[in-house]
Amino acid sequence: MPKIAIFTDTKTIDMYQFTKVKTGDLVDINDRYILSLDNHVSIMETLADFCKKKKITCGTISGLGAINCATFRFLDPATKQYVDKTFEEQMEITNLTGNISEKDGTPYLHVHITASRRDYTCIGGHLLDARINGACELLVEDFAMTFAGRQPDPETGLNLYKF
Ligand code: FE
Repeated sequence: MPKIAIFTDTKTIDMYQFTKVKTGDLVDINDRYILSLDNHVSIMETLADFCKKKKITCGTISGLGAINCATFRFLDPATKQYVDKTFEEQMEITNLTGNISEKDGTPYLHVHITASRRDYTCIGGHLLDARINGACELLVEDFAMTFAGRQPDPETGLNLYKF
C-alpha cells in the first residue's frame, strides 16, 4: 500500500516551530509532530509546553541537536538518592529518546540523552534539562486516545507507568 504524508497544523510560535505529520493509511490515528526548537531555549521547558498545548497524555519523543549546557540525573538504586550533574560545554545530541505520560493532570516527560563532546567521547543520562546552542530537531508521536499515568513505586523510588 502506498504511504501518504500530509503536513498540517504548521505553526511558528514563541520558542519553536512545528508541523503535524500524518503518515500511513487511514486507520493510523497517531499524530506525529516534527519540532524545530529555537536556539538557546530549554529543551524540557519547551517540550512540556508543547505537550500541554497539544494535550498529549501518551507518546514518544526522539531527536538530535546541539547544546551547550545540560544537567543529567543519576539514581543510585542503593540509596534511592538522585545525583545531578551539570555540564557546561558544547555537545552534539547523538540521541535523545523519551516518553510522555501524565501525572497530577500535567504532562510527565521521561527523557534520556546521549551527547558527544569536542573530543568525540559521549556522556549521557536521565535528562533534567539542556539548553540548545545550534539546533534541536525532535519527533513527537502522540498515541492519540491513549492514556498513560504515573505512580510512585516505593521499591525503586521511581514514578512508574500506571495504565
Ligand atoms: Fe530516567
